[in-house]
Amino acid sequence: MSATRPLHAPMDQFAVKDDCLHIGGMALTELARRIGRTPFYAYDRSIIDRTITELRAALPAEISLHYAIKANPMPALLNHMATLVDGFDIASAGELRAALASGMSAHTISFAGPGKSVAELEAAITAGVTINLESETEFERVIAIAARGAMHPRVAVRVNPDFELKSSGMKMGGGARAFGVDAARVPALLTRIGQAGLHFRGFHIYAGSQNLRAEAIVEAQDLALDLALRLSAHAPGEVETINIGGGFGIPYFPGEQRLDLTPIADNLRTCLPALRERLPGVELIIELGRYLVGEAGIYVAEVIDRKESHGQIFLITNGGMHHHLAASGNFGQVIRKNYPVIIGNRVHGTTREIANVIGPLCTPLDVLASQMEMARAEIGDLIVVFQSGAYGYTASPTRFLGHPEPVEILV
Ligand SMILES: *Cc1c(COP(=O)(O)O)cnc(C)c1O
Repeated sequence: MSATRPLHAPMDQFAVKDDCLHIGGMALTELARRIGRTPFYAYDRSIIDRTITELRAALPAEISLHYAIKANPMPALLNHMATLVDGFDIASAGELRAALASGMSAHTISFAGPGKSVAELEAAITAGVTINLESETEFERVIAIAARGAMHPRVAVRVNPDFELKSSGMKMGGGARAFGVDAARVPALLTRIGQAGLHFRGFHIYAGSQNLRAEAIVEAQDLALDLALRLSAHAPGEVETINIGGGFGIPYFPGEQRLDLTPIADNLRTCLPALRERLPGVELIIELGRYLVGEAGIYVAEVIDRKESHGQIFLITNGGMHHHLAASGNFGQVIRKNYPVIIGNRVHGTTREIANVIGPLCTPLDVLASQMEMARAEIGDLIVVFQSGAYGYTASPTRFLGHPEPVEILV
């Protein structure tokens, strides 16, 4: 190991006592004993609380925070999030049911995503959720549903912006995209929304995800606000909401640092007066998924075997890519990199070694850590994958190879 090798950002959101990781005020070994089996996901509500408190303290007070529930739709976690954020963003009828069951008010829920079925639209409109229109066809379906049921749907327009969120993990705007209506076609759609007498809410502009560069987020937010203001001139009624997206990332890989919120908050503070002048009553929304919950979660698997092959150590665990596709490197990564992984019951350990952490699936893709420096582990030890509170369980192929599902717990 060379001294210049990039390191993971410190995972200091969790306490370590007696060389054991603590989560929810409890030693990991004790939590594992109480759950009674491994693997499991554990989410620490106090870390979610702290993250949201700090975020709100940094951002201007009038910014609304929405939670994109696809990041983690666990029911207990949603119940908790419903008390902490100003709205939920959903992208399916299943997420609609989960969002409504959490107690979140329907009027603060918005429904984005391409390919909404008529049944999904009907359920969302009946519930009073805002539909973020992704196409002209979707607009026509909403009109038909409204006519059938004498309802007054709430709609926003998801705009495919003419810009992208630079250096993002996942880009969702700029150029040809499946998401939203091209900015150039939005004025015509707004006219039709006015003619149809729908309740127009505003604009949804989402340019990308997983960004750790504050300057890139500042630039995208400026462009989104500018675009929303230009389109507002064509609005069929008062613009009630402008959702300028999110994209706030968390550090997953060696060399990555936590996002600096200060430039983003400063820039929003600078932009707000001009926005207020043009649209006095508008609600400015930022929608986030992983930033709110990702750092609060760990995935825990147990060492089942310890092997050596050609001089390398292999820790074989009972969990892997079927539970945590993202940590295996198969959820959008181009080059596989290690998530932060430790031995949870020997954080520092007495001896350190370089090891591979491998799942039980019969495929070379089932890797949780590749040639990573960690405490020397024994059979029965607990492997911890940090940064696992978002895009973990529900973003994984749990049926693959027929192993048991992981447990999920909010502590
Ligand atoms: C996935 C998604 C999000 C959440 O993304 P994160 O990277 O988890 O913050 C927010 N909004 C939309 C429209 C999305 O598709």
